[in-house]
Amino acid sequence: MKEIVVISGKGGTGKTSLTASFAVLGGKNLVVGDCDVDADDMHLLLKPDYNVKENFKSGLYAEIIQDKCTACGKCFEVCRFNAVTIENGVYRIDELNCEGCGYCAEVCPEKAIPMIPAAVGSVFKSNIKTGATMIHARLKPGADNSGKLVAKVKQDAKAAAVEMGLEMILIDGSPGIGCPVVSSLTGADYVILVTEPTPSGIHDLKRVYELVKKFKIRAGLIINKNDLNSALTEELKKYAESENINVLSLLPYNEDFTKAITAGITAAEFTESEISGFVKDAWVKAKIDIYKEK
Ligand code: SF4
Ligand code: SF4
Repeated sequence: MKEIVVISGKGGTGKTSLTASFAVLGGKNLVVGDCDVDADDMHLLLKPDYNVKENFKSGLYAEIIQDKCTACGKCFEVCRFNAVTIENGVYRIDELNCEGCGYCAEVCPEKAIPMIPAAVGSVFKSNIKTGATMIHARLKPGADNSGKLVAKVKQDAKAAAVEMGLEMILIDGSPGIGCPVVSSLTGADYVILVTEPTPSGIHDLKRVYELVKKFKIRAGLIINKNDLNSALTEELKKYAESENINVLSLLPYNEDFTKAITAGITAAEFTESEISGFVKDAWVKAKIDIYKEK
């Protein structure tokens, strides 16, 4: 099985729109995973049906059993995170502020504070508009542990692919270079890097590729809006050559890319525009590179 992860190192490069395009071009031959759990957007283009929902729990938070509480105030005194509140003499714990340290539970003389597994998000198994399966997730506002949620999405995507006898998983990776993107890359066979010819695009691409190198994963590069700055596009091509990264596509700036998104379809489906052909060509080249001998 091949696990393909699309990442960009920075937001706004067209990564998610391109991943959704590749998901459409891959049809029912792959399972799609949305690991951009902090800002899941692929559903806007792939129209999942949210067929199966599972709560995702990670870490602990404190909860006060009101029947046992004698309002002594000890939990309020010890909490360093201002998670214990008092209203009309009633002590409560704000789940969003609670760091799960357990100090309040330790000092409560009435043993009125159990530590509860925190429901930090949901994982969905959906059918998307192509008939393929997509695993996606949503993190609660303010919740952390997105790295673990990313790992869960990937694990479920693999299980779905095995169950259906499919040979490919396509993952929309997390942005940045932190814990979620490390989780996105773990176990991947091939990375599609998406960037733009801007100073920040180049800087963030180099940063994230340093991470990819640590995982020893082969990579291909898509330079989106390449014609906006030919000098920086040349710099990106030279960098790719020096790092043995295959340049899969030089996508031109084309307003149809945005028009497609606004219409709720992927660039690949906008067949009356030349951008559709460019995206299809990039996917064909990526697949050739993915199955190329190392
Ligand atoms: S420490 Fe226990 S008994 Fe005291 S206010 Fe907190 S929950 Fe209530
Ligand atoms: S578990 Fe820690 S952070 Fe949460 S309310 Fe208790 S003392 Fe505060």
